[in-house]
Amino acid sequence: MIAPSTLAERVRTLAPSATVEMAERVRAARAQGRSIIALSSGDPNLPTDPRIVEAAARAMRAGATHYSAALGEPALREAIARREAARSGAGYAPEDVLVTPGGKFALLTALMGLISPGDDVLVLQPGWVSYGPCVRLAGGRVVPVPALDTLDAEAIASRLTPATRAIIVNSPVNPTGRILTAREIGALIDLGEAHNLWILFDQVYADFAHAGRVTYPQTDARGFARTLVIDSFSKSFGMTGWRMGYLAMPPGLSASVVKFVQHSIYCVPAFLQAAAVEALSLAPEIIPAYRARFRARIDRALSQLTGVAGLSCAPPEAGFFLFPRVAGDDVQIARTWLDERDLAVLPGSVFGEGGAGHLRISLTASDDELATAFERMAGGVRP
Ligand code: PMP
Repeated sequence: MIAPSTLAERVRTLAPSATVEMAERVRAARAQGRSIIALSSGDPNLPTDPRIVEAAARAMRAGATHYSAALGEPALREAIARREAARSGAGYAPEDVLVTPGGKFALLTALMGLISPGDDVLVLQPGWVSYGPCVRLAGGRVVPVPALDTLDAEAIASRLTPATRAIIVNSPVNPTGRILTAREIGALIDLGEAHNLWILFDQVYADFAHAGRVTYPQTDARGFARTLVIDSFSKSFGMTGWRMGYLAMPPGLSASVVKFVQHSIYCVPAFLQAAAVEALSLAPEIIPAYRARFRARIDRALSQLTGVAGLSCAPPEAGFFLFPRVAGDDVQIARTWLDERDLAVLPGSVFGEGGAGHLRISLTASDDELATAFERMAGGVRP
């Protein structure tokens, strides 16, 4: 047996994904017959519209079962460019759009294209659990920037080094549900320009803004020139398992960046891309319905949470996560809730600096399950 210590440092020292690990613990507990309610995942638990499923099946029957173009099918890239123009006003040419298997791979592709070993990448925290590991897989060094309630340009500036190449920004934010303000995005663009930084902008929750509007850095011409947009069909269309996302880049980059795709996955299956074209054509119908569903769940959850001792929650501006402050050790509370109340939530500390002292509660279960979950929380944060 060859010792695991001989494995590459790249995977040996990488922290496992806290969300995936929790999903596995929930699966194991359910297999033992426990009735766990999981409010721990980023999967919005939405069915894929049958018309999208049919579009994939139709394409498969029609023979779309061969290698596709590495950049993606032209029809999908054109539809994505139209959607970007409608949402952010940014004018992407279809050749600057790269179709990827999910938003996570769009992020990794962007980093593989931009980051050389030894480069520093600023990562706002609390933030999504995969940013740091993806930076490390690309050979970069993670530089955390605390940004719980506000994105402070000075906090960013104080962490810059000559090796800083990029900053990863997510708005609306997973896990806090915050939408970065126009002023914060403006400051970010100024900083990017002053220090020649790439901005990796993850907008996967942008369709679920409940209060206020999302400001996109790519709307601004100066922002457009240095922003790589990461987006996904997972949340907006209930398509997590399809693995469908994209990267939109400033002109001149895609011919180089696509080489990472050519030599790894080669392409996203053409029949899945046909389904994605169908999804985009249904966006005006599907997205407002899903947004309303989450809005209603948030309102209900907030009223049920009032009165839970030791827990205080501001309404999220977007998304389907609550990120309440808790009076106590978040890791301990999450563990107790899982072990003693059959309730899975994530401790805020897994999202990095500033996350401790919070829980992330995903409103991704059925309404009945959510009602039971809040009954189980009613005892407060102490066992
Ligand atoms: N960005 C954020 C902030 C996320 O929360 C997620 C999924 N949890 C993703 C990107 C990637 O989603 P996917 O790979 O399913 O498209």
